[in-house]
Amino acid sequence: MQSSISISPSVSFAKASGQVRGACPHDCPDTCALLTTVENGVAVKVQGNPDHPQTGGVLCTKVSRYTERSYHPERVLQPLKRVGPKGSGRFESVSWDSALDEIAARLKAIAARNPEAIAPYSYAGTMGLVQAEGMAARFFNKLGASLLERTICSAAGTEALTQTLGGKVGMKVEFFAESKLIIIWGSNSIASNLHFWRHVQEAKRQGARIVCLDPRKTETADKCHEHIALRPGTDAALALALMHELIVHDWLDHDYIAQHTVGWEQLKARALLWPPARAAEVCGVPVAQITTLARDYGTTQPAAIRLNYGMQRVRGGGNAARAIACLPALTGAWRHRAGGLLLSSSGMFPINKAALQRPDLLAGRRPRTLNMSTIGDDLLRDSSADFGPKIEALIVYNSNPVAVAPESGKVVQGFEREDLFTVVLEHFQTDTADYADFILPATTQLEHWDIHASYGHTDVVLNRPAIAPVGQARSNSAIFRALAARMGFTEPCFLEDDETLCRAAFSHADGDKVDFQELLDKGFATLPVPDAPFADGVFPTPSGKCEFFSARLAAQGLDGLPDHLDNHETAGSSSDYPLAMISPPARNFLNSTFVNVKSLRDIEGEPLLEIHADDAAARGITDGAVVRVFNQRGTYRCKAEVSKRARPGVVNGLGVWWRKLGLDGTNVNQLTSQQLTDLGRGPVFYDCLVEVQLDEATPV
Ligand code: SF4
Repeated sequence: MQSSISISPSVSFAKASGQVRGACPHDCPDTCALLTTVENGVAVKVQGNPDHPQTGGVLCTKVSRYTERSYHPERVLQPLKRVGPKGSGRFESVSWDSALDEIAARLKAIAARNPEAIAPYSYAGTMGLVQAEGMAARFFNKLGASLLERTICSAAGTEALTQTLGGKVGMKVEFFAESKLIIIWGSNSIASNLHFWRHVQEAKRQGARIVCLDPRKTETADKCHEHIALRPGTDAALALALMHELIVHDWLDHDYIAQHTVGWEQLKARALLWPPARAAEVCGVPVAQITTLARDYGTTQPAAIRLNYGMQRVRGGGNAARAIACLPALTGAWRHRAGGLLLSSSGMFPINKAALQRPDLLAGRRPRTLNMSTIGDDLLRDSSADFGPKIEALIVYNSNPVAVAPESGKVVQGFEREDLFTVVLEHFQTDTADYADFILPATTQLEHWDIHASYGHTDVVLNRPAIAPVGQARSNSAIFRALAARMGFTEPCFLEDDETLCRAAFSHADGDKVDFQELLDKGFATLPVPDAPFADGVFPTPSGKCEFFSARLAAQGLDGLPDHLDNHETAGSSSDYPLAMISPPARNFLNSTFVNVKSLRDIEGEPLLEIHADDAAARGITDGAVVRVFNQRGTYRCKAEVSKRARPGVVNGLGVWWRKLGLDGTNVNQLTSQQLTDLGRGPVFYDCLVEVQLDEATPV
């Protein structure tokens, strides 16, 4: 590994000194606009762009230390080839030419047998439209490689919104500041949606009531007027009970329901099956918390719901998000700009995915699709008529599956396969990179062009490179461009540079949907979204209405109405594993990113399991003791924190630590399962039963 930083002299595209406008690339709804200060070609400071209203000049702790990450002494700065056993992390430096030649030769040989034996594996390590699935998608489409269902974070919620509202659409985040009641549902906003929290604070100053629904008593819950600590996987029951109360007390907007919804009578019949007492039993909360919330929601306008993705990582996550997404249409909250719901705004961006990703390069082929959430099982499958060819090569970029994919014992087994050829594009030698045959050094956001949509606001943000690539790093697109050339792909689209790709992202045959000059001049551009987008209905569903009943789901043989579904692993269903476990992100990490940034890791300390005092006492566990957390899938050792943040019966395994930084080379995903959600085929990270024992081998 490299131990020193070398700055490439090729700085022709970057200012030697000055400030450069950019975008935060991380998987966070806020998509901040950045200002990077460069001195003599070196980035010395990254701060929020004060001219961008959504950023307001403020970044979270993680990204304000971005220079520490870009110039990290352990950054991979040249191509590396494996010299030790898989997983040993032993590599030697090689030239780009030799790495690319050998990778292309291996891929050509596999593709000659069956290109579907090659699979991409990527997610939101960068949210940039170009460095995520721009040139990479073109490469895999031309190759005819397996397609990837990118389900690991938001698939159930995405499908839920699509079926109910027509897409990932919602209220504009800035208007939460004017709401009179804000329900923060499954979101630790202070940790993972900081700029939304500013609007909540403003609303609070204006007298709004703030209620947080979350199994964990988060930092956000601490600051709300009320916290409802429901059991994981019971959100739909709570939403249906709220509907029940809205109906029996007639806290409904009948006119909105009549004009702008579909399936009201069916939904009413379903909701009336859920009196608060029934939901309270399922959710493990007092009846009064449900009835009070229903009264407040039914009698307060404007009322707004900030939903986040944590709650949909259970078997019934899709149904739960659907039930919650029905609520604003019942009360007519959408009539107000400060009313409605926001889970994701990303569907409001007119992205030209076809121009970026060029699905036409498939030329009529229909490769099989792999689900990234079941990569553990899929890497261990042989060829079959059902599955298709065994996976022979995996190209990983913008992701760290060995740390973040569920049931990581199996994921590791798959990555250990000697007959699997693995290439990892990375900044650091992550848990996944340890298993690579080649690690290719990728640029960070300070070193490349990109363009960003957002899932928390409605501004497009442009990222210009502020510095030259550090060491021999290359952008993802440059790497796929070079591989394409070696594979003999001659289409002109493989020659397009990154700025051209940025321009293509919002260009359409009938004209550009975003003014690129404005992006160049200001760094961001605001989409022309109405203040109250669904005040008059006109949802992007087939009916143009909010679909309480989804004919599209019914046509698939599924329930057309939202309902509560028990977890795959329901609390109380197993005497061997009596505790439910959720694994929310540690505040100073973003999934598995930043875990190796020492100043942030020092704040987090070490991997922790939060456990309620009653559950700890029943097991003789004291604060700070090392515990074994285990179930039928594996064992994970970490320190216990006896904490008010955990509710009785539920433990919180904070993630996502790199496995190799844990006590015994595992992390919380050793315990999570590869079962899938009801809608969207997403993972069920928070649908997981465990037992916890004092680790007798470790002295307290
Ligand atoms: S991680 Fe989120 S809050 Fe932090 S800088 Fe990036 S977009 Fe902003």
